[in-house]
Amino acid sequence: MRVAMIGSGYVGLVSGSCFADFGHHVSCVDNDASKIEKLHRGIIPIFEPGLDELIDVNVAAGRLVFTTDLAEAVRNAEVVFIAVGTPSRRGDGHADLAYVYAAVRELAASLSDFTVVVTKSTVPVGTGDEIEHIIREVNPAADFAVMSNPEFLKEGAAIADFQEPDRIVIGGSDERGFAQMKRVYEPICRRGYPLLTMDRRGAELTKYAANALLATKITFINEIADLCEKVGTNVEHISRGIGLDTRIGARFLNAGPGYGGSCFPKDTLALMKTAHDFGAPQRIVESVVMVNENRKRAMGRRIVEAMETSRGKTAAVLGLTFKANTDDMRDSPSLAVIRALQDAGVKVQASDPQGMKHAGDMIEDVAFSEDPYDAVMDADVVVIATEWEEFRRLDLSKIKALMRGTLFVDLRNVFSPSELESAGFQHLGVGRPAQMRIAGQEEAPGGEGAHGSAGESASVKAVAELHVSYQGATNE
Ligand code: NAD
Repeated sequence: MRVAMIGSGYVGLVSGSCFADFGHHVSCVDNDASKIEKLHRGIIPIFEPGLDELIDVNVAAGRLVFTTDLAEAVRNAEVVFIAVGTPSRRGDGHADLAYVYAAVRELAASLSDFTVVVTKSTVPVGTGDEIEHIIREVNPAADFAVMSNPEFLKEGAAIADFQEPDRIVIGGSDERGFAQMKRVYEPICRRGYPLLTMDRRGAELTKYAANALLATKITFINEIADLCEKVGTNVEHISRGIGLDTRIGARFLNAGPGYGGSCFPKDTLALMKTAHDFGAPQRIVESVVMVNENRKRAMGRRIVEAMETSRGKTAAVLGLTFKANTDDMRDSPSLAVIRALQDAGVKVQASDPQGMKHAGDMIEDVAFSEDPYDAVMDADVVVIATEWEEFRRLDLSKIKALMRGTLFVDLRNVFSPSELESAGFQHLGVGRPAQMRIAGQEEAPGGEGAHGSAGESASVKAVAELHVSYQGATNE
């Protein structure tokens, strides 16, 4: 089939390349000429594991091309996907549909034979109706169907998610539209992956409901983590204890600094706004948004409190991206943490395997180092802000030797308490007993609150064992 993908970002590039890999002829369009020029030179503008090989193979096979010429790509396509950004609108938090509607106005004029126009971007309920309206206005003679096909891939594992999806959701009302969409996804459906059809509004809302529920799960365990710290137990026990219940499931139960990224923050906010417009407020989602927003900065304040005096001190932040295996910095919790540290007069040094090129445009006065060992040099505190696999392999004794201080704040619980203690650190994780006294915080009953405790208690050992066994469960 002939497919046009409008927008060649995280979703457009991955979806376009995967469709090409299924055997379709795909034109990936972007109005950012520098992006397209890079793609022509074989440079992939985003970091996504496996994407470069997938693109190379399909470009070489003549099934995948990149262009800024939207009109031509649309004229030749049977199915046109819209995969442009839908960020939060400045000021009110609604999804900003300016990019979607601009793309629709442009593509409408080029529709010729029957064409299916599909929103792959995450768009609020009713956007499909407006798209239909715009196309009729611009091109009254056009023969088209507007369908919704929200994308559920996650950065860092996007290709596998696309090729082996939990489900494909397609919303619409036009039988010809459904038939074309089934042809597009036929290679995946043949392998047994479920394709759900529903009305267009249902598909639009399914995406928001999924993201809001996942954000709720993370926020829930984060609040339980706060309680664990107060009562002196470990959230990893609770995550495992509830996650093994098949009704609950183990994923998205890793406590941390709060969710971030390009989707959850903007999508929860947009759902909240849509719900208000339709007179069905989503109180749970409202709480999730508020709790998460407060949490990100609170994590920074927590580090400052643990430092006791902050002005003139140095923090080494390891990890900048909102999660591992992506270069995406959008709404990353590390940004709020770093700003809180800087506001308290702390100098920040940082390292991230992929995030530094974008981080440089988003935060000021941070000294970046490619090598995490350079970043920790003379630091008073080390903060793990992203759970990169590279960080799990760091030599803690070497870090300790390079630092000036002894404080280790692990916002992702990457290291077990016993590992950190063995290396001689005072440490603070999330939702587990700290091996230090935090200013203003009572020692938890039964907690491991001793200063610089050398010995390893039974409960810390148990936590360490659990930590190792629980590494498989992620917020991915
Ligand atoms: P992105 O910012 O990485 O990519 C969007 C691309 O669209 C950019 O390259 C931009 O230059 C291009 N663009 C904008 N207007 C255009 C136009 N008129 N013509 C051609 N190109 C245009 O965004 P993304 O992360 O790929 O997200 C796209 C959509 O998919 C959003 O709605 C997002 O919520 C949704 N989504 C994202 C993810 C994710 O993990 N990133 C997952 C599922 C769904």
